[in-house]
Amino acid sequence: MQFTDLGLAEPLLRAVREQGYDTPTPIQVQAIPVVLQGGDLMGGAQTGTGKTAGFTLPMLHRLASQPQKKDAKGRVAIRALILTPTRELAAQVEESVRTYGKYLPLTSMVMFGGVGMQPQVDKLRRGVDILVATPGRLLDHHQQRTLDLSHVEIFVLDEADRMLDMGFIHDIKKVLAALPAKKQSLLFSATFSDEIKALADKLLNQPVLIEVARRNQTAETIAQKVHPVGRERKKDLLAHLIKQGDWHQVLVFTRMKHGANRLTEFLNEQGISAMAIHGNKSQGARTKALADFKTNDLQVLVATDIAARGIDIDMLPHVVNFELPNIPEDYVHRIGRTGRAGATGEAISLVCLDEEIFLRDIERLIKRPIPSEVVPGFEPPAGERAEPIVLGRMTIGVGGTRRNAGGGGGGGGRGGRPGGGGGRGASAPGRSGSGGGGGGGAPRRDGGRPATAGPGSRSGGGGGGAGRGPGGGTGGPRR
Ligand code: AMP
Repeated sequence: MQFTDLGLAEPLLRAVREQGYDTPTPIQVQAIPVVLQGGDLMGGAQTGTGKTAGFTLPMLHRLASQPQKKDAKGRVAIRALILTPTRELAAQVEESVRTYGKYLPLTSMVMFGGVGMQPQVDKLRRGVDILVATPGRLLDHHQQRTLDLSHVEIFVLDEADRMLDMGFIHDIKKVLAALPAKKQSLLFSATFSDEIKALADKLLNQPVLIEVARRNQTAETIAQKVHPVGRERKKDLLAHLIKQGDWHQVLVFTRMKHGANRLTEFLNEQGISAMAIHGNKSQGARTKALADFKTNDLQVLVATDIAARGIDIDMLPHVVNFELPNIPEDYVHRIGRTGRAGATGEAISLVCLDEEIFLRDIERLIKRPIPSEVVPGFEPPAGERAEPIVLGRMTIGVGGTRRNAGGGGGGGGRGGRPGGGGGRGASAPGRSGSGGGGGGGAPRRDGGRPATAGPGSRSGGGGGGAGRGPGGGTGGPRR
């Protein structure tokens, strides 16, 4: 199957050829004919599958084959609306619209918050055929009546699962209410929760269901590896891997913004050019970091999960989980940044004892163990004990020690809140613990694969060594 077999107009084929693509990806093969025929679509596909071109190409074809419309104010009317969860994804999708639509007389615009309203108002006034937007700013314009959505013929909800994760459901409902009832709707989501299904039921009319990579499955082309390492040596190990491997384009994930900033500073001190991209950065800084990274002027981009959503870089060779995500699905999203559209890539996770519980959840989700390999010189320290992980206001505590540890780890706890009872899992050398309960057991042996902690309680009170409460006892002795 070639692009030329799909019935797309010549100006689109020319633009696709210029990108160097001859063969459509599986989602493109399936989605393009459905969209060309005007049908609704529910696409199960994550980024990296070529889904953007899968909806953009037929959308452009359909819009170009109809005359432009004028709205009540005599402007070129918005006939297609693409809603995305993040600014980065919106910018990238609109770039695709421009890339594929460059030989067509259609106009497009990207709209998101964090930048001035007025330039957007001016642009809207001049009229656009295709609008790519994040929900918040779109609704701002709608409320201020600087935008007319009553002529939309094609509506795309991209990365719907992430939209819901980010709490956009009410915004989505408001946008739907502003759109005409009769339209073609396309919904893309990497996962299909009940909430997504409910949204699809509301939005879609007899949709064709297309699913490419099976839900929550990681692509075969991505080589995944875990490097067990002591928590204090992660930074050094990362610098070592980058230098030894002569890596030039590495996307590194941290869980929290301040962690991203600290790591960036460290890498720069090591002579490795790095920038952080997260929600506290200005839009200008985020755009610049991404642009420099794409052109290889920046070696390392350090990102949090939300900021990284939608980052699209062709054939990204290395993705590093500096910290494992506490939401296992995020692991699938993160490593989907590499090995895109058939290219091979490597996804490496630096895992310290505290994160074993996350690793176990991830392996359960992807239904396979991730090969583990200790990097010589970076063996996890003997006798290291797990510490709880603080995530914003929540603490996820993991008691116990590593697998291969003779007696096995003691009970771990999970999910205590600050102020809850329970002891803190680890203690300073020489301090011996009392209280806290769980988390006894023998020390870990070097080279052992991080073990998973025993089943823990979800509350901070009582029970295992979870929670991080003031005055809580310490865990067992450290050797
Ligand atoms: P997406 O899943 O839309 O984020 O696209 C993933 C990447 O695949 C993007 O960098 C596209 O430029 C690229 N791509 C899209 N279609 C094709 C294709 N038919 N062949 C090769 N690469 C493609």
